Amino acid sequence: MKAKYERVMIKLSGEALAGEKGFGINPSTVKNICTSIKSVYDLGVEISIVVGGGNFWRGRQSDEMDKSTADYMGMLATVLNALALQDSLEGMGVPVRVQTAIEMREIAEPYIKRKAVRHLEKNRIVIFAAGTGNPFFTTDTTAALRAAEIDANIILLAKNVDAVYDSDPNLNPDAKKYSHLSYLDVINRGLKVMDSTAITLCMDNHIPILVFGLNDPQNILRAISGEKIGTLING
Ligand code: UDP
Repeated sequence: MKAKYERVMIKLSGEALAGEKGFGINPSTVKNICTSIKSVYDLGVEISIVVGGGNFWRGRQSDEMDKSTADYMGMLATVLNALALQDSLEGMGVPVRVQTAIEMREIAEPYIKRKAVRHLEKNRIVIFAAGTGNPFFTTDTTAALRAAEIDANIILLAKNVDAVYDSDPNLNPDAKKYSHLSYLDVINRGLKVMDSTAITLCMDNHIPILVFGLNDPQNILRAISGEKIGTLING
């Protein structure tokens, strides 16, 4: 199998690591995802990863709490997930560096763009943790921002649905599946793919996004090989 892309950004939601319980980290789920990421790594693709934190905490889940504090808690949750991914990938013999947007030097490197690129060139997977380091943002925006900074060819947006639909396919059996959308389609139709900050960042920086389902972790490999799965969002 040949890879279609040289350098990719994989965005995993926190929930992707949780397994059936929907909360916390399920080691065998993490292992399945990492096995699939390793098969992409073995093709020689430079891989960066942004992982969410929703399996532990989302800032917007608490109305009573100060918004920034709740968001900082969410950013810390992403660090837990990043370390779990690092541990699993390293257990498979894949070199990994975690870089955090909020300094915690005992645990991981601080985010330094030039260093991240160097790691990628040396065939190390780089996991960007702690979001953008700013409250009021999401990890989707982090994926868009870091993808722009490191010049990734595409964002592979792994979701719990297999593509973008015009309505929720779990609630509407007649929901229409899109194989292709423009950035403006997503914004104008209010499709819930990424938040608007993330999607406009991708639009302004011409970063294509492939939305696909992680129900089958092998989909990461399919996406990399250019197989027509999910929904492609570009120009
Ligand atoms: N977050 C933040 N700034 C960022 C990225 C994340 O404040 O740059 C916080 C925010 O509270 C968010 C939480 O971290 O709800 C977890 O991230 P997200 O909800 O994007 O995770 P996912 O839904 O992908 O699991």
